[in-house]
Amino acid sequence: MTLLRRLFIGLAIALPVVAVVFFFIVARVVGARMNRIDESKAIVVSERARALHQTLRVADLHNDILLWDRDLLQMGTAGHTDVSRLVEGNVAFEVFSTVTKTPKGQNYERNSAESDNITLLAIASRWPRRTWDSRLARAIYQSDKLEHAAAISEGRLIVVHTAAELRKALEFRAGTPGIKPVIGILNTEGLQAIDGTLANVDTLFAHGFRMAGLAHFFDNEVAGSAHGEGKGGLTALGRQVVQRMQSLGIIVDLAHVSPAGFDEALAATTRPVVVSHTGVQATCAGPRNLTDAQLRALAARDALIGIGFWDGAVCDASPHAIAKAIRHAVNIAGLRHVALGSDWDGATTVAFGADQVAQVTEALLQAGFTDDEIRAVMGENALRFMMENLPPGT
Ligand SMILES: [Zn+2]
Repeated sequence: MTLLRRLFIGLAIALPVVAVVFFFIVARVVGARMNRIDESKAIVVSERARALHQTLRVADLHNDILLWDRDLLQMGTAGHTDVSRLVEGNVAFEVFSTVTKTPKGQNYERNSAESDNITLLAIASRWPRRTWDSRLARAIYQSDKLEHAAAISEGRLIVVHTAAELRKALEFRAGTPGIKPVIGILNTEGLQAIDGTLANVDTLFAHGFRMAGLAHFFDNEVAGSAHGEGKGGLTALGRQVVQRMQSLGIIVDLAHVSPAGFDEALAATTRPVVVSHTGVQATCAGPRNLTDAQLRALAARDALIGIGFWDGAVCDASPHAIAKAIRHAVNIAGLRHVALGSDWDGATTVAFGADQVAQVTEALLQAGFTDDEIRAVMGENALRFMMENLPPGT
């Protein structure tokens, strides 16, 4: 064997190994870099707020940890959350979202549906081959991750699919000293996840999904996005999809949808909807935040509005800015309709991770909210909504 040939064979063996190690590191680094904590925005939590926070059932409507190459159950330092940090923050309920396609150069104004960052992330994170070209397979892969983590969590993470399961899990949480499990449901962000096929709504339901956003950062086969090129309403398929979701018991999430899509989805639905993670235009202008007219339309439909923690939702991402957005949403839509929608680990920069969410309780106290109002916004509104809108179960 010539030296050149040996060198060639050596390289042929070494290169894939180097590539795998390289992508492994890239996936980790990207996940950490894209989900930062800006501690300069953090506030000190008083004893009074800390004591109140411990009595709350905190609920959050949007978390993207499943997208990243991280161990859900290990207390980590990368990003914003994991089950340990959620437990530490006294979070009782979390909506775990799945992301299936994001455009290159993602922005709030205008994105084409052509490019896709998730293919490279899927390969770098060693997701199975089937996820490389199917958005449905990506959603299911991420849902399996959550179900698997719950199965080995020794009761620290419980995934529920019905109101009856949620009730039981909350009773377990209240009645088992020393264990404060995080109770989760599954969402998918944008119904490009059905790969353009109505029957895949049923597939998502079968895999445990109980909430789904119609669109994400680009116009898809179902609806126009607030950040898309056309920003249209519901498509013909979209109308069928919304009907099927409601008959199965998948909650319709209007976060990221275009203004036309918002109006058409409200007209096409009979059951209450959510806007899982959003801001309000009155405190933070921008294409993904709700106008007062939208807040009123949502309240009229008994919807639930999750106020986000990141700069795109509340502009300066401080707990005070979050409290200000909550105050406005409560003033316009009414207390019953307002909840938390952090967008932790959603490629966002926030002031605090899940373990420090008592900072919101502190900011709400400082903003003059009563204990009962804080209890409602911090979790009880969301839990009531889920009890009313998840499939009943037995
Ligand atoms: Zn989002």
